[in-house]
Amino acid sequence: MIKYDIHTHSLFSPDGSDPVEALCISAIKNGITHLAITDHFDADEDDTYPFYYNYETHSAAIEEARKKFMGRLTILKGIEYSQPYNTPEIFEKTVQLDFDIIIGSVHKIGSYDKYSEDNEEKYKRYFRNITKMINFGGFDILGHIDFPARYYNNYYTMSDELDEAIRALSESTIVPEINSSSLRRGFQFTLPDNLILERYADYGGRYIACGSDAHIASDIAAGFEYVEMLIKKYGFTPIYFKERKLCY
Ligand SMILES: [Zn+2]
Ligand SMILES: [Zn+2]
Repeated sequence: MIKYDIHTHSLFSPDGSDPVEALCISAIKNGITHLAITDHFDADEDDTYPFYYNYETHSAAIEEARKKFMGRLTILKGIEYSQPYNTPEIFEKTVQLDFDIIIGSVHKIGSYDKYSEDNEEKYKRYFRNITKMINFGGFDILGHIDFPARYYNNYYTMSDELDEAIRALSESTIVPEINSSSLRRGFQFTLPDNLILERYADYGGRYIACGSDAHIASDIAAGFEYVEMLIKKYGFTPIYFKERKLCY
């Protein structure tokens, strides 16, 4: 059974709704031993809620929860940083803070119009940005490598752009996440699923991070039975980060 959920959001994210304590209670109920609270850090000027994240209030809530759930749950302080390559100076300063875990994610490449006819091209553009982010580095976990699949109606195939992203990933110390949020949106696949995981394993990838990307407490560890099946299939080791060090 998967015991680490490394990607969750509390009310300290603009699209999150539950307090840290509620997330912790749900984690314990679902057999999770290590829970990362990775609230959104968006610093792009044109973001809907730039700088919504507040380090002080987030840290205080984590400290309080750590005391309350001591011995029952390890609570990891993290952020999910959007497009770090767009705001390098802010990123460098932010990651100096005492986080356990930093997720790097590409959320924006223009609009996610699922009825668009040029989705294949948009995927390629998205994967080029993933490679750019991996090469930029400075974070621990690569969030949802094929994020647009959560919005686009069609799925994608292996392309040179995707292959290059997976190769860059497997040559780095960054660990990819299997994000189960798509299962809750009616899709039959995780982000990523077999196509990417198989190639990652072929390139020698061994470690994997499991994230529910829960934005409400009841979604903690949701879909992890399916994620576990994938992990076993490819022989991956599930990991988490504590004080920015890889642990399992
Ligand atoms: Zn995300
Ligand atoms: Zn997220």
